[in-house]
Amino acid sequence: MMTYLPGDAFHPIPIFEDRDFWAYCAKQELRFQACAACGALRHPPTPVCWNCHSTAVEWRLAPTRAVVFSFTIVHHAADDRIRDSLPYVVIVAEFPDYGPVKLVSNLLADPSMVHIGMIVELIWEPAADGMFLPRFVRVGKGDPEAGAGQW
Ligand SMILES: [Zn+2]
Repeated sequence: MMTYLPGDAFHPIPIFEDRDFWAYCAKQELRFQACAACGALRHPPTPVCWNCHSTAVEWRLAPTRAVVFSFTIVHHAADDRIRDSLPYVVIVAEFPDYGPVKLVSNLLADPSMVHIGMIVELIWEPAADGMFLPRFVRVGKGDPEAGAGQW
């Protein structure tokens, strides 16, 4: 399938506490780190709870629907490999009734349609080495076979 940005351009390099986050992504599960002592969610992953300082961790499954908390439309190619993908949409997604975590991702949509408060849904895009990247589409546009240019 077509990917939103060239598949070889950007690939996560899991390190430290990120490893578990990306391991769940490889299984197409969006899970955020939660404190096993007090339940506080956090992202990016860290070794210690910001709320109670516990190091006990669990990974809580996120909802598949999110809301655009903020966004930007990128018109400048910081890397030559993404020049043909311009303009593309970067969002900060939040998950109502879930917790304070937010996720920086892409919204696969016509940039002119994006707005704060827009309801979006999670899809998984294949990447190199068996990885999947969490990205978002407009609700009802979750057909991963649609490919670029169909948003
Ligand atoms: Zn805690």
